[in-house]
Amino acid sequence: MNADLNIALAGNPNAGKTTMFNALTGARQSVGNYPGVTVEKREGFMNFENLRINVVDLPGTYSLTAYTQEELVARNYLVNERPHAVIDIVDANSLDRNLYLGLQFMELGIPMVLALNMMDEVRRSGKRIDTKKLSRLLHMPVVETVARTGEGRQELIREAVACGRKRQGEWKPLKISYGPDLDPVLLDMCSLIEAAGFMSDRYPARWLALKYLEGDIQIRHLAAQAGEIGEQLAGLREKTENHCRITLEASPEAIIADYRYGFIASVTKQGVISSTGQKERIIFSDKIDRVLTHRFFGPSLMISVLYLMFVVTFRIGEVPMGWVEAFFTRLSAAVSDLTNPGLLRSLLVDGIIAGVGGVLGFVPLIMVMFLGISFLEDSGYMARMAYMMDRVLRIFGLHGCSVMPFIVSGGIPGGCAVPGVMGARTLPSDLEKLATLLTAPFMPCGAKVPVFLLLGGAFFRGSAASVLFWITIGAWVTALLVAWVLRNTVIRGEATPFVMELPPYRLPTLKGICIHTWERAWQYIKKAGTFILAISVLIWAAMTFPSLPEEKMVSFEKEQKRIAALAESADDEKKTEDLQALLRDSRNRQAQAALRYSLAGRIGTGLEPVSLLAGFDWRSNIALIGGVAAKEVIVSTLGTAYAMGGESGESGLAEKLRKDPHWNVANAVSFIIFVMLYSPCFVTIVTMAKESSWKWAAFSMIYTTILAFALAVGAYQAGIFLGR
Ligand code: GDP
Ligand code: MG
Repeated sequence: MNADLNIALAGNPNAGKTTMFNALTGARQSVGNYPGVTVEKREGFMNFENLRINVVDLPGTYSLTAYTQEELVARNYLVNERPHAVIDIVDANSLDRNLYLGLQFMELGIPMVLALNMMDEVRRSGKRIDTKKLSRLLHMPVVETVARTGEGRQELIREAVACGRKRQGEWKPLKISYGPDLDPVLLDMCSLIEAAGFMSDRYPARWLALKYLEGDIQIRHLAAQAGEIGEQLAGLREKTENHCRITLEASPEAIIADYRYGFIASVTKQGVISSTGQKERIIFSDKIDRVLTHRFFGPSLMISVLYLMFVVTFRIGEVPMGWVEAFFTRLSAAVSDLTNPGLLRSLLVDGIIAGVGGVLGFVPLIMVMFLGISFLEDSGYMARMAYMMDRVLRIFGLHGCSVMPFIVSGGIPGGCAVPGVMGARTLPSDLEKLATLLTAPFMPCGAKVPVFLLLGGAFFRGSAASVLFWITIGAWVTALLVAWVLRNTVIRGEATPFVMELPPYRLPTLKGICIHTWERAWQYIKKAGTFILAISVLIWAAMTFPSLPEEKMVSFEKEQKRIAALAESADDEKKTEDLQALLRDSRNRQAQAALRYSLAGRIGTGLEPVSLLAGFDWRSNIALIGGVAAKEVIVSTLGTAYAMGGESGESGLAEKLRKDPHWNVANAVSFIIFVMLYSPCFVTIVTMAKESSWKWAAFSMIYTTILAFALAVGAYQAGIFLGR
């Protein structure tokens, strides 16, 4: 018999499916077997508003992984017959446990209505379930039912029909995060599955990837038969299994289950279930969470933890950072000894060693920071932080999970936007992910901090630390406001209502933390060895060529020879010193002239008519352009451009800037604002493109620079007006 609509009843065994099925279809039913197996198939018909509806009572299951025949039958029915809607009948007495199956329907994306059955018992026990809230959080109709008395069945069928008609057979798979260990693998598996077109007509790719990791026999078998894809997936799975065993001492299956239950807990914890009088079973994690995510203690503890991590990172990181710096200083001295003055030495020392060394200098700091982050993440506390931040971030169109990318990018000064942008991967919704990775680079990353310290020290004497503090506050405020604007304009769309997956607390293993730390640090080191190396050479070339015309060089050299000769013949010490200073000055003037003559110098000069609005002269322009390649370049370029040479350090540069007639407080503030906000560095942009698309990466470069310039001009003009 033909039907207008097919609806399937699914749920855990003993949730009341058959009872509901009988209540819906009455006597109009038939019982048979599913083809080839002894699993019973109940099918019946009912009428609803002139529609003829076919209802199927699926076998009861706890999961949709093909562990048992029932599960296989239920799943095959859903993907082969594609019913218009599924009614998931759950025993509302144990909502959390029952939702484990429901979540897998959601991940499949099938149109679905949730029936909270056994509500009579729930009410009697004194528990209350906020059905409306649950419905909002799960994005689906939720109906309270008592199958035995037929309560709620009309509403249930009405919702199922409405849902089936509205969705017209379209499946919308839900994507939840499975944490930093599995998410990247799932992404890789998805691209393999999509590229191979493996069963993509029947299942969402991510769902197949998940089932493969969970050890689903059917999917594995089919993949093995499909040829190459089977081997690729098997290889990835084996690698992941080993990785999870070593780092978390758990199997992928267990981790997946943890995250599913965490996700469910994050839904039911939001005041969905409240009990009046009845004693609840409080598990270990719940007990801890009572304190750690307490309304008042929670945030205070979080701030303390973040602050502690910040202090520890810098205190401990300082020491090995000194070693790395010392190593590169010695290396450049050694290379200088081995080479003759000239282009080669300049390329090696000023280009490659200075550029790559500047980046590698941050490796120890980053490793210590990641050590802390890995600990917070592996222990499960990170998820709680995001959970607490969610309420705030949601106002701005972001998600609780955005907090980590912000912090890693420099929300606590000293991070790096590259891992920050990568960290945005765990965000469940693409819109929120985009908003996060477009705004995270506003944070004061480790490469921007030296600029702030330099200018803070030069123009706000003695208060460099509070300058940094206010810059950090400013960065957060800007990031949040910009995110809000973006989410209400170019990336408009619904917020993901789910807070976070709250995995159970685990005591992290030392080995696991070390491996996680190293994985992240290695990404950063690779960046130094590839992009930064190439970019350093390019910048060096732009600042070196074309070189000064012959006659200018000759005149400088003559001048220097003359002074040197005078110094040699000078008899008293004072005079020698003065002449030496004169010599240095001449060399500096030569370097500055050469810089101005170079390609970079010409571009910087060419931009002056516009940039002077914000108070940037040609030397600032070169530094800022270099900063697009890598923010580390800003201070080193200012050093060269202000002709300080390599002899005096940064303190010397601060002194020089303070004395320079071109610089004043207004310039400094404008410069700081611009550096804080303008285009992310090149590596961040490439990472962004990888995580989203080149279109968004380009957008990020352009909008941030326009915003930064507008604010810098505003600040500079205001400063001039106020006479600073
Ligand atoms: P199935 O395994 O999902 O098909 O579950 P059944 O329909 O066989 O129901 C399991 C048991 O729960 C039976 O004893 C039903 O009478 C009982 N039951 C079903 N729905 C309700 C309900 O809403 N309230 C109560 N108290 N019992 C119910
Ligand atoms: Mg039954």
